[in-house]
Order: sequence, then C-alpha cells, then structure tokens
Amino acid sequence: MRKKVIAGNWKMNNDLSESQNLISKLISGLSNEKVNCDVIVCPPFTSLSEANSLLKKSIIKLGAQNMYFEENGAFTGEISASMLKNTGCEYVILGHSERRTIFGETDQVINKKIKKALQSNLLPIFCVGESLQERESEVTNDIIKRQITEGLKNISSAEMQKIIIAYEPVWAIGTGKTASPQQAEDVHAFIRGLVKSLYSNEIAEELVIQYGGSVKPDNAKELLSQKDIDGALVGGACLKSESFIEIIKAA
Ligand code: PEP
Repeated sequence: MRKKVIAGNWKMNNDLSESQNLISKLISGLSNEKVNCDVIVCPPFTSLSEANSLLKKSIIKLGAQNMYFEENGAFTGEISASMLKNTGCEYVILGHSERRTIFGETDQVINKKIKKALQSNLLPIFCVGESLQERESEVTNDIIKRQITEGLKNISSAEMQKIIIAYEPVWAIGTGKTASPQQAEDVHAFIRGLVKSLYSNEIAEELVIQYGGSVKPDNAKELLSQKDIDGALVGGACLKSESFIEIIKAA
C-alpha cells in the first residue's frame, strides 16, 4: 500500500521571517491532527537552514527546489547536492517545468541531476508534464514517455525505488486550471505502466506519483482518491498554512 506524499513547493517566496512564520503555523496547525501521509516543505535556499532547525521535532520533512549536478567548483550561483544534504534536506525537486522552460533545463541535464541527488542520498521529486499545445496536439503520452525515459536513463532499479515522480501538466500550474481527476488519473496510470515496462511490476506498484497543478483544498480530495494518484505537489496553496493543512487532511 503506497503512502501518500504531500509536498509544498514555495518557489521564490518567503524571506527568512516569513518562512519562520509559515513553518511555525504548519507545526502548530498539524500538532492536533492525525496525519496519514508524508509531508514535505521546499522553501527557497536562503530559508533551508532555519527551516531545518524549526522542523527538527516535527513530522514535516525538508526538501529543496533545485540543485546542480557537479560536486563543487566554479559554478557561480549554483548549489550542490552535498550542500543541501548538509543543510538537512532529504528531498529535492528536479525537472520542474519552470526550470525546464525559464532556465532551459533539458532532459539530459535533469538526468544528471537525478543521478547526483541519488549518489548524495537525496530523494528526487522528478517532475514531468506536457504543455497546453502538446495536450491539444494529443501528444501528452509521447512527451511524458520522452521525459521519463531520458530523465531516468541509467538509473538502476534500486535507485528507482527512491524516486517520486510528480505529474504536473504545465497548463495547470499556477493557472487555476486543474486537470480533471480522470485526465490526471489517465496520465498517472500511463506513467505507472511505463515504469513497469522500464523496471518491474513491483517497482511500478511501489512508485509514488504525485499530481501537481492548482491543487487546492476544494479539489484535493477528489484528485487524491484516484487509484494512481499518490499525493500532491502544491505551489500556490502551500503558501498559506490553512490551505496546505486542508490538503494534508484530504490525504
Ligand atoms: C508547482 O509549481 O509545482 C505547482 C503545482 O504550482 P500550483 O499548485 O500553484 O499550480
């Protein structure tokens, strides 16, 4: 039985005091709740260390939003996997569509990042998803297949068991448009089938596949009740403790 995983991607939001405030509210808001899922927050780099101190005794785990695949050196502005690990991160989001479209990350770069994260004992949340134009041209499954096959190139079965995949249709991110539960379920089932063909039935059945794209308290329950939807990667709605907690409760 797969445990659901709810992750909050704060993106480029919350300075240090805003981060402290949000984390304190999450900790106190969840203290009286029976939480049946894993909860992860992914603040910006500048808040990770403080978040790690605040989260020490809580059930909430810490993740980062990106990293570079080299160990160290002349890569101005980049952060390494071991730096994230050293700051207390357990997870790292890789291949987010904003990284792909705004910062030009390719499937090959994302593959290198996934490998480096795994070598450094960071658990990747590997994002895939099609654009609106791709969905309208009915090539969604082709795009997902390419992103997953390239992104997971030379990743072993043992490593694959440490990866979470997040299906995030680009047209649903930050737009208020959500994929219908059936649209999302269809792609999740396709991803699970693909992972089965690339690895094994056992690995595919254990794989956590999150949905992301305008998940809110009022649509979370229905999305999360789909057979192959094992959690959510939440952007906008994770910036307010009340709405993030409602989504956690829906899981
Ligand atoms: C995201 O960026 O991962 C995301 C899902 O954002 P939003 O929930 O705001 O659509």
